[in-house]
Amino acid sequence: PVRVRFAPSPTGPLHIGGVRTALFNYLFAKKHNGTFILRIEDTDQNRFVEGAENYIEESLKWCGIRVDEGVNTNEKFGPYRQSERKHIYKKYADQLIANGKAYYAFDTADDLDAHRKDHEAQGKTFIYNWHNREKGRLVNSLVLSAEETQAKLDAGDDYVIRFLSPQDETLHLTDIIRGNMTIDTNILDDKVLFKSDGLPTYHLANIVDDHLMEISHVIRGEEWLPSLALHYQLYDAFGWEKPEFAHLPLILKPTGKGKLSKRDGDKLGFPVFPLAYKDHQTGDISRGYREDGYFPEAVVNFLAFLGWNPGTEQEIFSMDELISAFDLERVNKAGARFDPDKTKWFNHHYMQEQYNDDLAETFKQIQPELAEIDVNYVELVVALIKERATFVSDFWALSHFFFQTPTDLDEKAVKKAWKDDSPEIMTQVVTVIDSVNDYTVENLQTELKGWITKNDIGFGKVMMPLRLALVGALQGPDVFDIMYLIGKDETKRRIENLVN
Ligand code: GLU
Repeated sequence: PVRVRFAPSPTGPLHIGGVRTALFNYLFAKKHNGTFILRIEDTDQNRFVEGAENYIEESLKWCGIRVDEGVNTNEKFGPYRQSERKHIYKKYADQLIANGKAYYAFDTADDLDAHRKDHEAQGKTFIYNWHNREKGRLVNSLVLSAEETQAKLDAGDDYVIRFLSPQDETLHLTDIIRGNMTIDTNILDDKVLFKSDGLPTYHLANIVDDHLMEISHVIRGEEWLPSLALHYQLYDAFGWEKPEFAHLPLILKPTGKGKLSKRDGDKLGFPVFPLAYKDHQTGDISRGYREDGYFPEAVVNFLAFLGWNPGTEQEIFSMDELISAFDLERVNKAGARFDPDKTKWFNHHYMQEQYNDDLAETFKQIQPELAEIDVNYVELVVALIKERATFVSDFWALSHFFFQTPTDLDEKAVKKAWKDDSPEIMTQVVTVIDSVNDYTVENLQTELKGWITKNDIGFGKVMMPLRLALVGALQGPDVFDIMYLIGKDETKRRIENLVN
């Protein structure tokens, strides 16, 4: 069965790239009737950020990505927080030592620094591996006797457990997106797997948990590709069957140059986080897609296209359509350029699919001027203007004249629309409007158009000043719709205002 996991470290707000990783895992799981697991990788206590886990959960929920297994969900393979799995990992580190696949090292940070400097002085890079591990002044269980090693452990000296990376071997790695790769083990260092504080590093915890949670496919960002060789070796060292791997392409800045960073959003004027985020230390607030007025459907749709495409012209996909179309084989390895304008394009599309009553509610919430206005009236207005809007925050500029008599007239519009004969024509228009007893859009149209034709007045000579009077500018929806919605009295009042 397909079992995939999203395994973020709660070190701050989830970046849009993290959401993309979660989404691709989710799509893949659902496509194959599999299970989507959320695992919190919080073994690095120094980088732990309060509230980050909650932020991750909220973000997934907002996007409509449902967790099948995880904290507070289905705890079948739990716990799902690595900090609550501490007791699990030591025995696996011990197992590797017993099998000669890992060893103790007692070098202090200062020792390692000195080695690094020595090497640099000779124009070389220090790598903790077969090059160095058994010579020089390194202190580890490969150079110490068994008794010496045990004595250090008994004395409570700080240690780490390192993976013993073999010399002169070629590793063959396979990635669903990148195909086959070969790695020369001589360039790998002996990564730390476990520390004397009792905690595993990312590598050990990640492999052990993927194995214990029976993960079938590891789908994660390209930044983890350099760890793949070690992960392969760890599976082999334990004698475990490997999952399949897929490393998703980087997300690039809008220029296409360089990786999109967490800081780019504020610099370039678009959100890079799903939800707004307040930094607990600085108090700074970063913008979020939700708070900026994006619909989750739009965010999901545009994220899906960051590195994947369906191979057809279709661009609009609901979550269900994504699930059936998604395929890891169609994920590119080249970096995916982030295009904030495209996100807006998607939002404009999904705006048209929202229910007008929902939009009216939101509009009322963000616009204090609407507090006393009947929501049903707001809904009718929304129906007329939403085709021109990308965000609900665009609504007011497109519709204020439905709620307030325009006061500041647009000067250019006045010049263009208000001619010497306009006062006279508009006075007659008021009479025509007054004569419409059954005040409907249709009747207004028939009467006014009939009157224009009968008197052979230019259409523009009527419609332009009329629009000016109603809107205060020459924009907006259909004039007859406006007249109908604001009502007969208000329509007459606005025209008379302008005439006098
Ligand atoms: N904890 C890692 C992260 O923060 C997980 C990487 C992986 O999926 O293996 O992305």
